[in-house]
Amino acid sequence: MEREHGATLTHIVVLPYPLQGHINPMLQFSKRLATKGLKVTLLTPKSIVKSMKGQASSVTFEPIDDDDDDSGELITAETMEAYDERFKAMFSHGLEGLIEKNNSYGYATKLVVYDCILPWALDIAKQHGIGAAPFITQSCTIAAIFYNLYQERFTLPLQEPEVSLPSLPLLRIDDMPSFISQPGLYPFLLKVCLEMYHNFHEVNWVFCNSFDKLEEEVVSWISSQWPIKNIGPTIPSMYLDKRLKDDKNYNLSLFKPNVDACMKWLDSKDTGTVVYVSFGSMAALGEEQMEELALGLKRSNRYFLWVVRESETEKLPTKFIEETTERGLVVTWCPQLEVLSHKAIGCFMTHCGWNSTLEALSLGVPMVVMPQWSDQATNSKFVMDVWKVGIRVKVDDKGVVTREEIELCINEVMGEKGEEMKRNTLKWKKLANEALDEGGSSDKNIEEFMAKIVQI
Ligand code: UDP
Repeated sequence: MEREHGATLTHIVVLPYPLQGHINPMLQFSKRLATKGLKVTLLTPKSIVKSMKGQASSVTFEPIDDDDDDSGELITAETMEAYDERFKAMFSHGLEGLIEKNNSYGYATKLVVYDCILPWALDIAKQHGIGAAPFITQSCTIAAIFYNLYQERFTLPLQEPEVSLPSLPLLRIDDMPSFISQPGLYPFLLKVCLEMYHNFHEVNWVFCNSFDKLEEEVVSWISSQWPIKNIGPTIPSMYLDKRLKDDKNYNLSLFKPNVDACMKWLDSKDTGTVVYVSFGSMAALGEEQMEELALGLKRSNRYFLWVVRESETEKLPTKFIEETTERGLVVTWCPQLEVLSHKAIGCFMTHCGWNSTLEALSLGVPMVVMPQWSDQATNSKFVMDVWKVGIRVKVDDKGVVTREEIELCINEVMGEKGEEMKRNTLKWKKLANEALDEGGSSDKNIEEFMAKIVQI
């Protein structure tokens, strides 16, 4: 592969936002490019480089000096705006330093691939006369919705119960990203999601962690607006196309997984009998919701493996763990890819974060979706109504999903109705694999990019 492109001297820098759900896809993309012969340096805080686990040897890591004081906080600041300012100062300094260092070593950087929520990285790239490409870690649909808002095809607060946008199904208010459906709650994050489009006319490429067939119509619409290239799903290769033999995991876990406990427990269960429950790395359920979820799992009378992060465990009902040891295992973090691909898993109860959604689709697991915020409601709409691989729980008048509703949804996906959803997930799994495999849409997009970048 390397010699095929003659690309060994072509150097690019990758700058993800330092969160689990952002680093994972950008590091995976970096691994693909490095295997094809690019020299890829990923810029990330020292504390994250320290928590990396082996095997991503094809990619070079450049640590940014952060406070790294074991507080778990990258930067401490009182407001989001102050955080953002300190973050930008620290990371832009790191990016400039790396570009200059590479120049002095004779590895001139050709392109900066930056997390799309860090649009100032483009200004730095341009100041140094090099190319720039934002990387979208959410779906093309989400990117299109915010772009439509940026272009004022609709305004906030939403006036109509449904929004009609080019190439997208009708979206109800509660299908919209929460920064749009509840603009008063997240003004700063809404601004971040819109700001990235200010300089999109200057970018060389826009990469997205999706694949063409998954979002066919909207991809075709976006292509008429920006130079979009879907390069996903960025699941480790050994779970899909198997062309990168060393690529078995994400190499990064910001939380410590209970690997042995989970896998041994799953090994003891029959095929398709376990409900896997996880709400990702950030979502925090209210105490009442946590209790309803716990009791819903108990009522379902099924086996369950539930990830409750350390910071959330105190919200579990008293004696819940003792009372459910026969049926359930509660852990603080798990190896999610290994879990989802285990034969014992029958369904995934998820917050519908984009990585978890793509992982379930790519590994053939139907879902019960319980979105919390950000893009998750929109992903849930697609899971249920477009890809038909799961059902979305209903929220009651108080904004809570009751134990009865949880029980009902789990039983539906684990029961007869779930069989069709399972068949649909297997269709998506096949299409995801085809997209990444030789000659597939994502593979072709990467090849076309490679052919151009080596000539810059
Ligand atoms: N994950 C994991 N173990 C867990 C829970 C989550 O490895 O116990 C991983 C999961 O595989 C996914 C990421 O964490 O890659 C979560 O990303 P997602 O976009 O789904 O949600 P976020 O954490 O950003 O809300």
